[in-house]
Amino acid sequence: MTQSDSITYDVVVIGAGPVGENVADRTRAAGLSTAIVESELVGGECSYWACMPSKALLRPVLARADARRLPGLAQAVREPLDAAAVLARRDAFTSHWKDDGQVQWVEGIGADLYRGQGRLAGPRTVEVAGPDGTGRTLTARHVVAVCTGSGAALPHLPGLAEVRPWTSREATSAESAPGRLIVVGGGVVAVEMATAWQALGSRVTMLVRGDGGLLARMEPFAGELVAEALTEAGVDLRTGVSVESVTREGGTVVAVTDTGDRLEADEILFATGRVPRTGDIGLDTVGLEPGSWLPVDDSLRVDGHDWLYAVGDVNHRALLTHQGKYQARIAGAAIAARASGVPILESDPWGAHAATADHDAVPQVVFTDPEAASVGLSLAEAEQARHRVRAVDVDIAVAGSSLYGDGYKGRARMVVDLEDEIVRGVTFVGPGVGEMIHSATVVVAGQVPISRLWHAVPPYPTISEVWLRLLETYRDN
Ligand SMILES: Cc1cc2nc3c(=O)[nH]c(=O)nc-3n(C[C@H](O)[C@H](O)[C@H](O)COP(=O)(O)OP(=O)(O)OC[C@H]3O[C@@H](n4cnc5c(N)ncnc54)[C@H](O)[C@@H]3O)c2cc1C
Repeated sequence: MTQSDSITYDVVVIGAGPVGENVADRTRAAGLSTAIVESELVGGECSYWACMPSKALLRPVLARADARRLPGLAQAVREPLDAAAVLARRDAFTSHWKDDGQVQWVEGIGADLYRGQGRLAGPRTVEVAGPDGTGRTLTARHVVAVCTGSGAALPHLPGLAEVRPWTSREATSAESAPGRLIVVGGGVVAVEMATAWQALGSRVTMLVRGDGGLLARMEPFAGELVAEALTEAGVDLRTGVSVESVTREGGTVVAVTDTGDRLEADEILFATGRVPRTGDIGLDTVGLEPGSWLPVDDSLRVDGHDWLYAVGDVNHRALLTHQGKYQARIAGAAIAARASGVPILESDPWGAHAATADHDAVPQVVFTDPEAASVGLSLAEAEQARHRVRAVDVDIAVAGSSLYGDGYKGRARMVVDLEDEIVRGVTFVGPGVGEMIHSATVVVAGQVPISRLWHAVPPYPTISEVWLRLLETYRDN
């Protein structure tokens, strides 16, 4: 690598995923010169191998499921999905894995893009190893923001690499549906990809470890309803099962489980968690542990390093694009305030410099049929945090849900703090509930008192009327 002179910017961002892009957007808007370093595609995991392609695969699946619940329409959607057309639309949503549009966007905000692997080389210094072997040193006058995201975690199974297992990347970018697919895991990626590929023509077997069932981080009924639906859709769902060995014999993957089963498939997807992409970013040069998540304070600054921020997946607060972008807005404001010498007030009334929602108001949608959507604390989490709470449970059975589809099946839970009379968490499970969760986010993040919630009138006839059932059930019990 040939070395050139160092170039100085106010802010150097490592990683141009959705989060790095948003940090750069905010620091540029504040008039700070900003460099952004990217080793793969500008837009990150979300645009090419995560949110966008997965939701593009799932949207026709969910739209068809909705149509099938409507007499008069159901017969028109009896045929299997046209997998080739679904995959082509997915390819359009990933811009065919080209980042020209996003590069233009970076240019438009006036940030300088450096292609290559970024590595810290001591405080405020980033070395960029370009794809053509050239090297650059970037110096940050104020801040380096690490936004390098996360990658798929694979279990330590002997010979796994030779099997060429799918991770979330292959599961979202595959060019055709494998005949038989084993999905290992029971979290969000596992249930979404099992839903998508089963509907696109694969015969899916899910292997889920432990007895926590699916979607273990959500309220238990979410996993139960999704499991029921996956089984109905033809997925062979096996819980309490671990994979002990995997081999590839010719084109066939053979997985042996701890229960002694021998399963054959064309592909095997490991959806078994995420690891931080910090193994090779020079953390050791600033006294931090390579390969570790980067804990931060509420302004997204790394503990003990006043010039270093870690934003998005890499800080392990909430591995979601919308939450990472929220953090980016906060970090950008904090970086700009500190750069101009404005103290960040501890008692900042609007929380402009503190990502407080990360602690107790994170929304998430799982795009399965039924959808599972939640915000804030589950009952178990609220109890663990020592809030005095009560769970209010209702079936989603209102005029809006019956109209939405025949045989509509869904449930809702509201976790009420009995001391403050506010809502600590909400979970909805049912077709179409993803679009409803923002109402709950407003309630939880805004700490709206239950007494005021009665005056938030849900329109008739929509599924939102479930809010009335939740309030009535709370009042009457
Ligand atoms: C299958 C799947 C589906 C998902 N669906 C959703 C969803 O529907 N909604 C949602 O909110 N979230 C979803 N997520 C989570 C979401 O993808 C992440 O939370 C989000 O991508 C995090 O953004 P980020 O910018 O922190 O990291 P990333 O998107 O991972 O971007 C990090 C960037 O940094 C670059 N980089 C890494 N190291 C270096 C280096 N040393 N030098 C230069 N560049 C580097 C990478 O190439 C990458 O471009 C999904 C995740 C998966 C796996």
